[in-house]
Amino acid sequence: MSDSRNNLPEIPATFAEMDLSDEILRAIEDMGFTVPSTVQAKTIPLMMSGADINAIAPTGTGKTCAFGIPMLEYVQLKDHRVQEIVLAPTRELALQIGDELTKLAKYIKGVRIAVLYGGQPISKQISALKRQPQVIVATPGRLLDHMNRGNIHLDAVHTMVLDEADEMLNMGFVKDVTRIIEATPSDRQLVLFSATTNQDVLTIAWKFQHEPMEITVEATKEDRPQIAQYVIATERDKKIDHLLYLLDADVYQRMMIFCNTKFMTDKLTSRLKKEGYSAECIHGDVKQSQRNVVMNDFRRGKFPILIATDVAARGIDVDDVEAVINFDLPSENEYYLHRIGRTGRAHKHGVSFSLVTFQESVRMDEILKYMIARPLPLHFEEDVLRNEDGTPFFENI
Ligand code: ADP
Ligand code: MG
Repeated sequence: MSDSRNNLPEIPATFAEMDLSDEILRAIEDMGFTVPSTVQAKTIPLMMSGADINAIAPTGTGKTCAFGIPMLEYVQLKDHRVQEIVLAPTRELALQIGDELTKLAKYIKGVRIAVLYGGQPISKQISALKRQPQVIVATPGRLLDHMNRGNIHLDAVHTMVLDEADEMLNMGFVKDVTRIIEATPSDRQLVLFSATTNQDVLTIAWKFQHEPMEITVEATKEDRPQIAQYVIATERDKKIDHLLYLLDADVYQRMMIFCNTKFMTDKLTSRLKKEGYSAECIHGDVKQSQRNVVMNDFRRGKFPILIATDVAARGIDVDDVEAVINFDLPSENEYYLHRIGRTGRAHKHGVSFSLVTFQESVRMDEILKYMIARPLPLHFEEDVLRNEDGTPFFENI
């Protein structure tokens, strides 16, 4: 292991150069991937060499396969204990990772993947655990619950991945995550993926990683989402009208609208339904089974408008969201980045609209400063249009 650290593996240009099994290569081909993304090219060989890794990469760069491929390559099929764990901050993200791993594992006979998250009956998950999965994808709270009930043992864990580590730790999972890591062998491989680094991530890294390798991926020109960001100056009681105006332009087949509260999300959904639009919502109080139905239907294009809170939408990968609308401005700058990152994925162009009241224009300025300071992604096609007095305005959609 130490050898490979002194001798960094070359960064491969193709999947074929990566020493992957035929089963994985066939699955990658079925998924339609021809070349590895930058984060995949950097992470896969390093992770397969056994190194602990701290990777910082923007959303939409293909992180799931970056850790998913090495995890599946490692699994010892005859060993029926849990060997590989991914922790994710939300149920939706856990499910999405589970789906991606299942696709990657299509030709590997005998690999079992279980997804554990709050909101699903625990009994169903107990039966999944009885099938002795080698790979677990979980949200921290539910995994801990299973550990406390003695349903799962982590003493044979080889690799542990924290996906969206920054967000997970921000959401108050520090204690849970720490307890879970402490239940794994101290020589397990620990791999952290974040969009940005923060103190909690550094602390976990410092406490639990051994000579970690750092990987930083900046969005390259090709990877860079092309997102035109618009600000629409409005008033509180005119927001709906502006929104309807946007929707009536009928330009976008698939849109996400973000609100800050569950209440507003519900209220806006009923209003749009009443106006005859086909819209559904997800937030923390919507039952998990219902959230899954809504997400699947949205992915399949069964309805065009998904209304969501930040937490419920975190990390969700839906191809072809053409427009993101901020009905409310997010209270966290980073959320803005994550929200508009729902569009412009996979090298497509995207557009975002923020409905901003005069009171919110101060927040909008803060967000813009934050965005300009990002080493990231953004392409300000139209930049933000402003009135002479500096307040944002919008015209001519
Ligand atoms: P991240 O976790 O970095 O936000 P994801 O893992 O969700 O990114 O991947 C974003 C999208 O890119 C997914 O739809 C995924 O299937 C696709 N993708 C991943 N790797 C590749 C690749 N090598 N070539 C083309 N598309 C890819
Ligand atoms: Mg991801």
